[in-house]
Amino acid sequence: MATIDGLPPLREVIKAHDLVAKKQLGQNFLLDLNLTAKIARQAGDLSTCDVLEVGPGPGGLTRGLLVEGARRVLAIEKDPRCMAPLAEIAAAYPGRLQVINADALEVDVMAHLTPPVRVVANLPYNVGTELLIRWLTPQVWPPFWQSLTLMFQKEVAERIVAKPRGDHYGRLALLAQWRCDAKIVMHLPPEAFTPAPKVHSAVVHLTRLAEPRFPADETLLQRLTAMGFNQRRKMLRSSLKAMGPKIEAQLVEAGIEPTARAEEISLEKFCALSRIVARG
Ligand code: SAM
Repeated sequence: MATIDGLPPLREVIKAHDLVAKKQLGQNFLLDLNLTAKIARQAGDLSTCDVLEVGPGPGGLTRGLLVEGARRVLAIEKDPRCMAPLAEIAAAYPGRLQVINADALEVDVMAHLTPPVRVVANLPYNVGTELLIRWLTPQVWPPFWQSLTLMFQKEVAERIVAKPRGDHYGRLALLAQWRCDAKIVMHLPPEAFTPAPKVHSAVVHLTRLAEPRFPADETLLQRLTAMGFNQRRKMLRSSLKAMGPKIEAQLVEAGIEPTARAEEISLEKFCALSRIVARG
């Protein structure tokens, strides 16, 4: 059967290289190249960008990115068994695909990328959130990437885009939305993957803002949201008590009822509170 890029179908690739999926590596592969090309399109114009892909596996999404015109793809894959099928793709796209066989948590990606950079990945569930938090909390802003287009379990995707008072609202929403626009751009059922996972998945697209949405003291913002959401059912005057004797007055000054709970408070108000607490 013909594929969109003339390379062999992924089912054949997996069979030829005996790539039995490993659960401990979070291997749930996308085999439909029309679907992976559609995911690649959610990332915007790739023709002027380098793309960082974490966990290419047998290369379904990698091929989607290349078909959609990515200038260059840097793909970091931990599983050595995937190197041979990925080398076949690299040979079909001379100079456009570099593959590194390593743990993505340990690679200095900027040593291999030329800006502008977009990150597109069907992330392994075991390191997905850790990578997202790293990408959202660089030492300097703006970060090395323009956008992140990432597949997550649906529940994690909902936590990233959540708004106050919803069940999923918490630290991840605040962290993501402070310096990015974040939206869910695709939903995928378990059957889209091989093997099918137990849960539904969704693709989140995050675009970096040039400046944080509201000024805030980053360290204090992290601390206040950690304390507030670690005890999310408690009133803020008690969950934030360790911030000092002035916290109740500081909450009022930020326009927050001291009896409110963290899950009711907008990003704007958390940022205002961080500035007031920083002032002392
Ligand atoms: N991109 C492929 C696709 O969409 O079909 C595979 C996605 S699969 C959900 C996740 C991939 O990440 C697997 O190929 C797995 O081997 C790889 N992986 C797991 N942990 C990794 C890590 N720490 N660094 C790099 N790759 C990793």
